[in-house]
Amino acid sequence: MRHLRNWHEECGIVGIAGCTGASELASMALHALQHRGQESAGISATDGYTLATHKGMGLVADVFDESTLKSLGGASAIGHVRYSTTGTSNFKNAQPIQVSSHRGSMALAHNGNLINAHFLRRQMEQDGSIFGTTSDSEVILHLIARSRAETVEEALAAALPQVQGAYSLVVLTKDKLIAARDPYGFRPLCLGRFNDSYVVCSESCALDIIGGNYQRDIEPGELVVLGNGELASRRLGPSQPERRCIFEHVYFSRPDSIVFGQNVEKVRRRCGEILGREHPADADLVCAVPDSSNTAALGYARATQLPFELALIRNHYVGRTFISPAQKVRDMSVRIKFNPVAEVLRNKRIVVVDDSIVRGTTMRKLVKLIRAAGAAEVHLRIASPPITNPCYYGIDTPVRKELIASSHTVDEIATYLRVNSLRYLSLEGLLEATEQRDRFCTACFTGDYPLSFTDEFEKNIFDLQTETREIPDPPVPRQRS
Ligand code: SF4
Repeated sequence: MRHLRNWHEECGIVGIAGCTGASELASMALHALQHRGQESAGISATDGYTLATHKGMGLVADVFDESTLKSLGGASAIGHVRYSTTGTSNFKNAQPIQVSSHRGSMALAHNGNLINAHFLRRQMEQDGSIFGTTSDSEVILHLIARSRAETVEEALAAALPQVQGAYSLVVLTKDKLIAARDPYGFRPLCLGRFNDSYVVCSESCALDIIGGNYQRDIEPGELVVLGNGELASRRLGPSQPERRCIFEHVYFSRPDSIVFGQNVEKVRRRCGEILGREHPADADLVCAVPDSSNTAALGYARATQLPFELALIRNHYVGRTFISPAQKVRDMSVRIKFNPVAEVLRNKRIVVVDDSIVRGTTMRKLVKLIRAAGAAEVHLRIASPPITNPCYYGIDTPVRKELIASSHTVDEIATYLRVNSLRYLSLEGLLEATEQRDRFCTACFTGDYPLSFTDEFEKNIFDLQTETREIPDPPVPRQRS
């Protein structure tokens, strides 16, 4: 149900260092990461002498074909799939962003959101800098270019402590590939090997598709330089308490991936089991809202001893049409995307398991479809707590007032959705499912933001800057004990 709920993926990134056919491998890896962003795709590659970038709007398959990849060539490459979290969706904001400076050509691909980028940009523009995109990521390239450090990795290491927020990123120069992750570790970034080469990617499913092996995560606050089959690692300043995005396990990542060192399918299944333990239902069968809720529903069925049935069939071939953020298009999409199986649902008391509720508008339509197919009762079970707060760290959420749980009780939401009962997994249960409870950001459930921000922070802050809008002051970092 991925893109129907207005809770979009942020981005997916990959980097492959020192390997014949690096561009082709990067494109395969981007195919595996396509669920993290469908608005644009791009690859930058180097043969050791020159750096070239090809990118475009649409899916990886739309942007790259055999001849494009062949012409890119390269022994090292970085790639990016994008869903816009800062800056509007258009070609100029597609990544990797390639620039030229006194350091030569370099390209950057970034997953996450910088909460002080608007402030840094305002300062740089006042100093005469010219920006080519409205993406927060470009600020990092400016900081690298302005640095007096001798090498690019030293310049990046000096630049990153100046930015606040979430970043997992890869930078490519003609002879180096550098990867880094912010000190809180909001967004994932894993390290693997393909033959003798190093690969970094947002999720391990990108390694699987090229036949690589998962080695470990890039640590929060770690910067690595990859090349010639070697890896050099350094720390980006003092360590912070880890704040991995728990929503990677709830919804964003693929279940076959290892993310934050854990298999996503297993965490999701445990979420379903704990949900079943916390909130059993007097019902005849369990079904999932496919695909992201499948494993949670299987876990729920196992815990409650109810049969699991495929009662909703998802049409996988309409996704591209409906990724547009236009509200009108989203409204049409539920019926086209899901078809209830009347023969399974008729006269049955159904438990529907979904991973989350954002606005509730999609679920309301889905419940209507399930009832129209003959279900006698609909009991909704959600494998995460109520979402009461927006995300500022790289996930495109609606504003707070549009989050149904920010202003409605569970009973009120149940009434709006027209379900017989509605229950959410507790935060305690969700953390138990991760088996690493103290290492996650849970701000969208609790409002306890690891890094504070101004209320005016907005996705399109750089676009708004061209209008008569005041740019907010910088956020004040909040230290956690
Ligand atoms: S606020 Fe929610 S979506 Fe954003 S990083 Fe934290 S857990 Fe993830």
